[in-house]
Amino acid sequence: MNIRLAERMSQVKPSAIRELLMLGADPSIISFGGGYPDASLFPLDRLESVFRTAIAENGSDTLQYTVSSGSPKLREQVAARMTRGGVDCDAENVLILQGAQQGLDLVAKMLVDKGDVIITENPTFLGALIAFNPCEPRYATVRMDEDGMDMDDLERTLARNPGAKLLYTVPDFQNPTGVTLSLERRKRLVELANKFDFVILEDTPYREIRYQGEPLPPIKSFDTQGRVIYLGSFSKILAPSLRLGWAVASEEIIQQLGLLKLAADTQCSTLNMAAVSLFLDTYDIDEHIAALRQTYRRKKDLMLDTIRRAFPQDVAFTEPSGGLFTWLTFPEGFDTTRFMAEHALPEARVAYVPGATFFPLQQEANHARLSYSTQTDEAIVKGITALGRLLTARRSA
Ligand code: PMP
Repeated sequence: MNIRLAERMSQVKPSAIRELLMLGADPSIISFGGGYPDASLFPLDRLESVFRTAIAENGSDTLQYTVSSGSPKLREQVAARMTRGGVDCDAENVLILQGAQQGLDLVAKMLVDKGDVIITENPTFLGALIAFNPCEPRYATVRMDEDGMDMDDLERTLARNPGAKLLYTVPDFQNPTGVTLSLERRKRLVELANKFDFVILEDTPYREIRYQGEPLPPIKSFDTQGRVIYLGSFSKILAPSLRLGWAVASEEIIQQLGLLKLAADTQCSTLNMAAVSLFLDTYDIDEHIAALRQTYRRKKDLMLDTIRRAFPQDVAFTEPSGGLFTWLTFPEGFDTTRFMAEHALPEARVAYVPGATFFPLQQEANHARLSYSTQTDEAIVKGITALGRLLTARRSA
């Protein structure tokens, strides 16, 4: 049968990341490709205990439907945590989501009609493009440097696209570059949003995985007009299979998103919400996060030290203060997709994510995203050294 697909399906395509994640499952390949957290850091015993207790204490309530905005207790706990982190809010400002990814989908559905302009960092998180694409937006992009989005370039982009409705940013340890938006730029971004009347989607699942320096205030903390939507996630600080994240926004926006959430999946798992709620009550999640930071910092240092030692000088890399990624920039003309297919995979048995996929418009071939999160210390040294040897050999050939 010739299925007559909706027009929007022309924007829905298999992603390169999916294939790469499959490569990660081949044990003979050292993959720096996927963005998974390190599974050895999941608090297995404590999660087992809170799941048991949640069922034992609340019985069949934990297996029943609940309200679509999420368990009232968890909304309160998230609101209290956000308030401590600089975003003054109540439970009514919180919507519990099926991971931050659901927030990307729902916010696009709420705001974006076909042809509307979404502004993104260049490069940006691929999963956001995947979520936005079915709404058939047009993209406009903003240059980045080591302090995140360049605000002068944003002004130029806005001058060309004054009706842009939505700006998407990952301000802390961005996926894919690892770069963090500076304090000044956070303030300027909100001023520009007020002036040009667009909504800011602040997506920050890595925010708490910070290795050095003080946390910068969330963009949302500068929002006086209710135009910033903040997305957080338990995926990196507890475990991604819980599929729990949250949005913080004005009550009006939370209500609109709640209607879309009801249509999409009714609610998040009552059991998972009860278990996480109990986790937050019973254990010190900040202590757990401190342990995560230590491990990721060690792996980051190891990867960057090995890159410094093993890679040719003309390969630049970012030095993230948190998160799971570093971003490589090779000389113009170097194609990381070809290099991976022709050399890195067959000769070094190493995978990474070629950078081209993270650019919404003009794809740049000479970048790669490396994640240090899932590999052991030994594999990091072995894989990066092998890549470096190949790159060096190629230069001197
Ligand atoms: N945003 C960014 C920037 C991400 O890197 C990810 C996950 N890799 C997500 C959102 C989605 O996270 P989740 O749905 O697991 O909360």
